[in-house]
Amino acid sequence: MPGAATRTLGVVTEHREIDEILQRAADGGRITPEEALLLYTDAPFHALGSAADAVRRRRYPDGIVTYIIERNINYTNVCLTACKFCAFYRAPKHAEGWVRSLDDILARCAETVELGGTQIMFQGGHHPDFGVEYYEEHFAAIKKHYPQLVIHSLGASEIVHMAKISGVSTEEALRRIHAAGLDSLAGAGAEILPARPRTAIAPLKESGERWLEVMEQAHRQGIESTVTMLMGTGETNAERIEHLRMIREVQDRTGGFRSFIPYTYQPENNHLKGRTQATNVEYLRLLAVARLFLDNVPHLQSSWLTTGKDVGQLSLHMGVDDLGSIMLEENVISSAGARHRSNLLQLVWMIRDADRVPAQRDTLYRHLRVHHTPADDPTDERVHSHVSSIALDPGGRTSLDLADAT
Ligand code: SF4
Repeated sequence: MPGAATRTLGVVTEHREIDEILQRAADGGRITPEEALLLYTDAPFHALGSAADAVRRRRYPDGIVTYIIERNINYTNVCLTACKFCAFYRAPKHAEGWVRSLDDILARCAETVELGGTQIMFQGGHHPDFGVEYYEEHFAAIKKHYPQLVIHSLGASEIVHMAKISGVSTEEALRRIHAAGLDSLAGAGAEILPARPRTAIAPLKESGERWLEVMEQAHRQGIESTVTMLMGTGETNAERIEHLRMIREVQDRTGGFRSFIPYTYQPENNHLKGRTQATNVEYLRLLAVARLFLDNVPHLQSSWLTTGKDVGQLSLHMGVDDLGSIMLEENVISSAGARHRSNLLQLVWMIRDADRVPAQRDTLYRHLRVHHTPADDPTDERVHSHVSSIALDPGGRTSLDLADAT
């Protein structure tokens, strides 16, 4: 362990044990789940952020914070799984259920390309008729017409569902949709991995262990992914740290998780209404602990879409190196009350105003455009994140252009 003279951190707390853990983590040492929990509950906020930021600085000394332009295509809201926190789904045969046609999906891909987007997130319910064949057909069609778009989509839950519908193994389902065009898995559906809180909010979903098993199968086939976490549905602090532990264990074996993305539960229009919501401080502390504990996951993304721009900026001082996306379409968390919106120029400003250098990235986190100075900033004001669908008219303007809510 480094001596005091070689310490990364200048901050010293009044708690010797916490001080030692923070110093070790900031210097690149591994911390235990018990130590992570102690930091999460007891470390002074500023010291915790300083340690996480020291790790971020060592990994990314250029001070660059990335974002991506993508489109979330919600192909159906029909779902058998009925998660209690979900305001998006409709049960099969419900009058408000819908399925987007392939032509509609391709039109949305065309708009994404037109607006400079590089990535598609295909996200929807567990439709009773959609097996592996549905995804093969749609991914192949997207790749045929828009080979420049990266399909970064689905998570282990959808793989489990489609394999069951088609009567094949999850390994085979993964192989087939990868061959058809899937580039990487988005890692949605992780929710909260430990059994008690997961069963409470998503009793019909596969277990956290099964979710991770399928992600591990994907990684072994060369399909990398990100991994998410839903905070604020009633889980304990220890269960939050257990979620991180379960991810780190798989990552030690596969190295396939590119990024960790926690986000907060949105309480509107669902069956969990009124349950505890994670506070912004809890969210920021979790980000910092994740940066220190997940020493094997390269990127850490904060979800300003659910917490807002101010928290998004603060997160850049808690170990975060990526602000996620300008999402040209999003319906799932918006249905549950996520109201924060931005356009590309505002997002770039948010990053610069937090004393970081903004850069557009691709799915592999390669920098496409670094905005070193305002002279390098993007100029396309049409690039907004949206509550719902958009459509470009022939003049190139958005016809359903919902105003910024913030
Ligand atoms: S979160 Fe996904 S799986 Fe759960 S009910 Fe909503 S659409 Fe279905």
